[in-house]
Amino acid sequence: MSGVALVTGASRGIGRAIALQLAADGCAVVVNFASSSSKADEVVAEIQASGGSAVAIQADVSDPDAVANLFSTASDELGPVTVLVNNAGITDDGLVLRMSPEQWDRVVNTNLRSVFLCTKAALRSMLRAKSGRIINISSISGISGNPGQGNYAAAKAGVIGFTKSVAKEVGSRGITVNAIAPGFIQTDMTDALGEAVTSAVSEQVALGRLGLPEEVASAVGYLASEGASYITGQTIVIDGGLAL
Ligand code: NAP
Repeated sequence: MSGVALVTGASRGIGRAIALQLAADGCAVVVNFASSSSKADEVVAEIQASGGSAVAIQADVSDPDAVANLFSTASDELGPVTVLVNNAGITDDGLVLRMSPEQWDRVVNTNLRSVFLCTKAALRSMLRAKSGRIINISSISGISGNPGQGNYAAAKAGVIGFTKSVAKEVGSRGITVNAIAPGFIQTDMTDALGEAVTSAVSEQVALGRLGLPEEVASAVGYLASEGASYITGQTIVIDGGLAL
């Protein structure tokens, strides 16, 4: 695989694993981050050490001006984006009765508005090239719902609806748009839940454990590959059998 992959939120966790996977598959990689500058630099260094190309670019992907700057800098540094992975995301949990409008907006803007902004920015060059891959990281919460995650589940369900709509809009131009819905994956996001919650969750998972970031990244690598050329508008659940 060649081309330029832009991975939002690639300084840590699942995004980091996706950046490393796409670099191993032959893409030059834009490692976007919000504030973890040194961690993003480490991802870039790891890719370069294996002979790949990568740059780290800071941008809050919920901000339209920052997204415009992210894509123009990416294009200047590595060329037009051919694979976009909308991965950046946050949680800010609370029961709906106790949730503030600001808490709602922060999570919806970071997890859903960002997907709209980055997709729009990436589509310009993809439409010209008549090819491209967009992969959106949703969540099992967006399919099943989760108490305390009204904001997050709404945003992640929105990502799935957006994925299907854009897949229909741009399919005739050789661009595929898919989503991945992970279950519980070992990252800073799930570390924050604590040992008691994660071991209780593991008991509900058919495979009996949390997933690894690399186990999500390998599916992204597949969706970005030539082998996935006839797959669009789909949501692949990667949850070790949690939702069965
Ligand atoms: P994580 O370890 O907390 O990492 C989040 C990443 O997103 C970081 O690189 C962070 O950058 C970046 N980010 C956050 N806000 C941003 C913003 N406004 N602009 C740009 N980048 C931003 O999270 P993760 O667990 O890897 O999750 C990655 C994605 O998978 C998210 O969309 C999440 O909702 C989804 N997901 C995760 C799980 C799970 O179990 N972990 C399950 C289902 C879905 P900084 O380092 O600079 O803060």
